[in-house]
Amino acid sequence: MQMAARLFIPGPSDVDDTVLRELARPQLGHRTQEFRELFASLRPGLRKLFSTGNDVLISTSSGSGLWEAAIRSCVKSKVLHAVNGAFSKKWASLSKNCAKDMAALSFQDGKPVNPQAVDKALSERDYEAFCVVHNETSTGVISDLGALSQVMKKHPDVLFFVDAVSSLGGVKIEVDGLGIDICLASSQKALALPAGIALASISRRSYLKAEAVEGRGYYFDLLELKKAYDKDETPYTPSIPHLYALRKQLDRMEAEGLEFRYKRHEEMASWVRAWAKEQGFPMFSQEGCHSPTVSCISNTKGIDFAAVKKALAGRGITVDTGYRKLNEKLAAEEKPTTFRIAHMGERTPDEIRSYLAELQKQFQVKP
Ligand SMILES: *Cc1c(COP(=O)(O)O)cnc(C)c1O
Repeated sequence: MQMAARLFIPGPSDVDDTVLRELARPQLGHRTQEFRELFASLRPGLRKLFSTGNDVLISTSSGSGLWEAAIRSCVKSKVLHAVNGAFSKKWASLSKNCAKDMAALSFQDGKPVNPQAVDKALSERDYEAFCVVHNETSTGVISDLGALSQVMKKHPDVLFFVDAVSSLGGVKIEVDGLGIDICLASSQKALALPAGIALASISRRSYLKAEAVEGRGYYFDLLELKKAYDKDETPYTPSIPHLYALRKQLDRMEAEGLEFRYKRHEEMASWVRAWAKEQGFPMFSQEGCHSPTVSCISNTKGIDFAAVKKALAGRGITVDTGYRKLNEKLAAEEKPTTFRIAHMGERTPDEIRSYLAELQKQFQVKP
């Protein structure tokens, strides 16, 4: 297989060469007019990407940094987390480690977040915020933000925080339409940027809430970021190369057209699902909530993925062998483990088809 596509894992994703080249630009002072112009130039594209009139803050960190920012800045104590996989679990434990009064509403691996259960939990206690992972990368499950948004409307005092780390840029998310207070994403997944920055849209009421929260720290204090943002700056020295890369990538996304981009992701996902079905592998994710950016498939045939990974690594291709902790848990329960195929960012249907053909060839190789 001859292709530039190397990474079939759910992040980091391959980055287009023209975007990579932006990283090589000379540095520039972050308190200069040139920097402020660069920073300000990102605003319209980011607002369009998030479908929001809110600020879209940029953090020099991975997405996890903004998990912490949301919790430490906007939650005094009581926070509810929906937990339906490894990432949502990690975010919940972060809240606990920030000494918040964290409650977890758990769902089985492979299942989406159930809106009725969220409604019930929010009715039982006064929470300050509800946190949900839109696209559980560990299990390939996408939850229904539309239905969750309806629930949140019944609980208007609760802030609505959404981790869109592996969906933003691959799936349409209408932040304002859904009433999301904080929607956060990493650069290195469906946005196909180098790892190292993270983005979050922040509602006005999130800032208002933050004013009443003590111990927000500095680096992830949303009010510090906001103060600088209003002057087209960042509180600290940001990763300037990433900002050039982001500017380029926003232009590329605009050139492709966001709607076309989302359709491309749907198309790749449906190719993978059709292939899995044809090959007799069941999807691990529940029917009706398969992710458009990453497919998680039950390895019911006991394929030796470690061997497949090794064989393709020799050719520069990175294969995903499933989320480790999930597979350990499944193995302990004597259930089939999983493997994932990421189809996000720059990937194309043609590349996905070549990859599937390649995987199939590998499955036939007998050790
Ligand atoms: C990758 C991922 C994270 C962690 O993001 P980092 O950028 O590595 O901090 C969080 N949530 C989801 C859903 C992810 O896929």
